[in-house]
Amino acid sequence: MQATQTLTLEDLTSFCVRKGFFFPSGRIYGGLRGFYDYGPLGTELRKEVLDDWWYFFVRRRVDMVGIHGCIITHPKTWEASGHVEAFFDYLVTCTKCGREYRADHLLEDYGIKAPTLNAETISSLIKERGIKCPECGGTLGEPAPFNLMFSTFIGPKRTKTNEAYLRPETAQLIFLNFKDVYYSMGMKLPFGIAQIGEVFRNEISPRGFLFRLREFTQMEIEYFINPCKLDDCPIFDEVAQMKVKLLPAETQEAGSEETVTITLQEAWEKGLIKSKWHAYWIGESLKWLSRIGINLEKVRIREHLKNELAHYAVQTFDIEYYFPFMGWKEIEGISNRGDYDLKRHQEFSGKSMAVEDDGEVVIPHVIEPSFGLERILLALIVEAYKVSRGHTILSLNPRVAPVKVAVFPIVDKPEFVKKAKSIYANLKEHFTAMYEEKGTIGRRYYDADEVGVPFAVTVDGRSLEDDTVTIRFRDTKEQIRIPISELVPTLKRLME
Ligand code: ATP
Repeated sequence: MQATQTLTLEDLTSFCVRKGFFFPSGRIYGGLRGFYDYGPLGTELRKEVLDDWWYFFVRRRVDMVGIHGCIITHPKTWEASGHVEAFFDYLVTCTKCGREYRADHLLEDYGIKAPTLNAETISSLIKERGIKCPECGGTLGEPAPFNLMFSTFIGPKRTKTNEAYLRPETAQLIFLNFKDVYYSMGMKLPFGIAQIGEVFRNEISPRGFLFRLREFTQMEIEYFINPCKLDDCPIFDEVAQMKVKLLPAETQEAGSEETVTITLQEAWEKGLIKSKWHAYWIGESLKWLSRIGINLEKVRIREHLKNELAHYAVQTFDIEYYFPFMGWKEIEGISNRGDYDLKRHQEFSGKSMAVEDDGEVVIPHVIEPSFGLERILLALIVEAYKVSRGHTILSLNPRVAPVKVAVFPIVDKPEFVKKAKSIYANLKEHFTAMYEEKGTIGRRYYDADEVGVPFAVTVDGRSLEDDTVTIRFRDTKEQIRIPISELVPTLKRLME
């Protein structure tokens, strides 16, 4: 099989569009940068991944509940959270053609990589290196901060007092609802609140297909812990012996990107991960990523440098995936947000955010696993995309494959078609399924492989005699024969 290393971003984008996973939004009008619509297969894939995330992190647990907050909420939220003041990137504008660039991306294109850059450094780097506008060669102006929040107006008046923001993260809605959830659901610390939803960031330069979008989906958890019990994690055993590839801040500060392979227990004991609960959530995140089909060999845990830490963070790790066309990139962030958010909302609203735990009144500390759905889908597709003897196979884990089973009559004669269609109708009650009767059977297998269908059921001559069918496995091409009456339980078992 051809390795994914040869896969380019252009190949992947055109594959995903051609096969109905994603379409540039507003394509007939030339598209809109940073916006992609989900096509039929993308929509099914999305649903499978979201459902599995919700099952894994919420439904099967006893310490988690979910909410579904508004996209537009009280504007004070974003003052308290620090987004009005600090959620910006630097923009540089060409003085000749007016084109705008995100400063750190522009510098990255010139081989200058730094996690955080201030206006003075950007300005002097541009001058020192003689960086000009990549489009027209014009002189670039001074860097200016650009807030990434999209704003809108509530009600008919378009005045500053009616201005509101589309949420740039789902997290804040969880903090706003924290006390209501705590009381209405009778929660006890430690516990978590999860939320899945669309968020909006006015990225200066969207790029990398699904990687940097202006509208995307987050799956976030805020896990609330008594500040005196940050290392009191009774379920730590579930992850303690997991080995992770860790890239500590110290290593990066020394100019190296060499990871250390270490168990989560050791990483916590050595103080590389400050809180035991933080280490626990790193472990749980990795378990889920692996469960849906991400190869953990291509995942590393990179600690944020001190000057890279967000204004709210005590310690942050990015879960990075190695994309063949972009290198290591963040697909999930896991932050220890301390009590920053609850304290700020307490201060700005005048409402107490404290709760009781073991007779103590405390403002909980928070560990936040924050997953970006589209980046995870991109990693899943990269991981699954293989080319074998000229044919593309999308080896998606059956758990998330958008179509689980294909049904084919071996030839399109009426008796075969009739039987195959009745099997298809029955399977559709249980799984996402597809049916095709045209073309050679080999061609139809290849077409199903290409969109990741893990199992293909074929009605052949013997099926008409003894009511059996074959199941063909996408990845091994092996076939088994079973009675039609056994199809549903067999496929269910295979999907496990
Ligand atoms: P980056 O540094 O790449 O801009 P970030 O650190 O701002 O990302 P977070 O605020 O930690 O990202 O958001 C959590 C997750 O949301 C990220 O791990 C990523 O998967 C996803 N995400 C963030 N920005 C985007 C974007 N513009 N497009 C798609 N997904 C995104």
